[in-house]
Amino acid sequence: QGFLPFEHEPYSNFSDETVAQKQRAAFDEVRRRYVGQTFPLFIGGQEVEGEGTFTVTNPATGEALWHFQNVTPEQRDAAVAAAKSAFESWQHSDPFQRASIFKRAAQLLRARRAEFNAVMTLENGKNWAEADGEVAESVDHFEVFARETLRWAEGKPVYPMPDEHVTMHYEPLGVVVTISPWNFPSAIPLGMGLGALAAGNTVVWKPASETPLSSWLMIELLFEAGLPRNTIQFLTGSDEVLGDALVDHKDVRMIAFTGSREIGCRIYERAAKVQPGQKWLKRVMAEMGGKDATVVCADADLDAAALGIAQAAFGYSGQKCSACSRAIVEDSVYDEVLEKVLAHARKLRAGLPEDNADYGPVIHQGSAERIRSYLDAGKQSARLLLGGDFEAGSPVVPPTIFGEVESSDPLFQEEIFGPVLTFTRARDWQHAIELANDSDYGLTGSFYSLDPAKIAEARRRFHVGNLYVNRKCTGAMSGTHAFGGYGMSGTNAKVGGPDYLFWFLQTKTTAQKY
Ligand code: GLU
Repeated sequence: QGFLPFEHEPYSNFSDETVAQKQRAAFDEVRRRYVGQTFPLFIGGQEVEGEGTFTVTNPATGEALWHFQNVTPEQRDAAVAAAKSAFESWQHSDPFQRASIFKRAAQLLRARRAEFNAVMTLENGKNWAEADGEVAESVDHFEVFARETLRWAEGKPVYPMPDEHVTMHYEPLGVVVTISPWNFPSAIPLGMGLGALAAGNTVVWKPASETPLSSWLMIELLFEAGLPRNTIQFLTGSDEVLGDALVDHKDVRMIAFTGSREIGCRIYERAAKVQPGQKWLKRVMAEMGGKDATVVCADADLDAAALGIAQAAFGYSGQKCSACSRAIVEDSVYDEVLEKVLAHARKLRAGLPEDNADYGPVIHQGSAERIRSYLDAGKQSARLLLGGDFEAGSPVVPPTIFGEVESSDPLFQEEIFGPVLTFTRARDWQHAIELANDSDYGLTGSFYSLDPAKIAEARRRFHVGNLYVNRKCTGAMSGTHAFGGYGMSGTNAKVGGPDYLFWFLQTKTTAQKY
């Protein structure tokens, strides 16, 4: 394994004026190169036009950015067929070749960090730091998957038999469909796509319609790094053409999905049906929502806890499945923690993501209005302490905090996917963990205490896939914080972790009689 050791990609230091200047220049360059352009589908190694196009807009300004194709049903089926045929050779490709491609892609992406940051900021309204963190995660994915490719190529040892030579190794599955969300338009599809490719599968890649260029450029970069062009089919267009029909397709072997609970459950259910001509049970990876809690014990470092809560609740306007949406605080320090979080939240300034403002728009007007309905209901059921209102027609939802929120309140139970934080009083720290666990979801959670006994108890009882002690609950790092939740947060696939590739593989035992 010549690729060790591994180091996480450092974040850009935008307080250095040269770095900031480079980022500003990247916006100009991206506008010059991409605004007004029309981007093709990739099918069978060819660039293909669909039937008409749709326009991607900047959520902060409404500015028309670039255009993508509406794929036809025939082209969709041709893409699945192309992925199936590319699998014939790619499944036998040399793992060292695959790993080297990912290594080269990491190098190419390092050199284009500012450009990829800018594209993402324009497409989904992340500020510089959030976009940069995600592109750094994408570099990490390349490095991690390069290593994982080689690790999984080795198979695993088995207990010996006296008169047989026995091996156990892993083989790819076939055509993998990836369906990804707009909130992490680079790292999330890349994680799923690289998982599939690293294992030797081929991919039908459906990005979110809000953020296709973040994916398209990443795929181009992979091709430039040497990935055979027929291994990824890139399809954009309507959900009618790309949704159920892809999931139902008899030649699809696996669906890797990240997005809402509603769609995840729908995919899980539909994929269970064996279609005429289908010769396997489809595998489904469905990573869905979160309603993530931060528990603060009375003995905790309250400043650290308040900062962690504010960052995890309001970073990218709370549009992360890992976002902290529930602060659950021991009664004796409730008021103090609340005051400290309010102080952080009051300092946040609205503005354009492109100017690196603290917070900007949510993804679109529909989303803003959906959040508003929670704000309106919350004003009846709980105490509004900050935010809670915004101009009709504006996509900018201010940081909002509700206090004295009961665990039965929809504010406490439902994923809002916006900058909305609830505060709930706990009798004691055990009660706080019970409240945190009172959820359908179980993705991330934070626990703040300096007491080793309490921490040990939290490690046992806090029912989440990613538990963070004395740190915020967002910002999982590929290779280190294997990411994926419990309960209705999904299938717990743990992207970026040492078991992730297993999802994309099947296991062959070969026993040879001496
Ligand atoms: N992996 C991201 C984090 O740890 C969250 C991904 C998501 O929100 O979908 O913050």
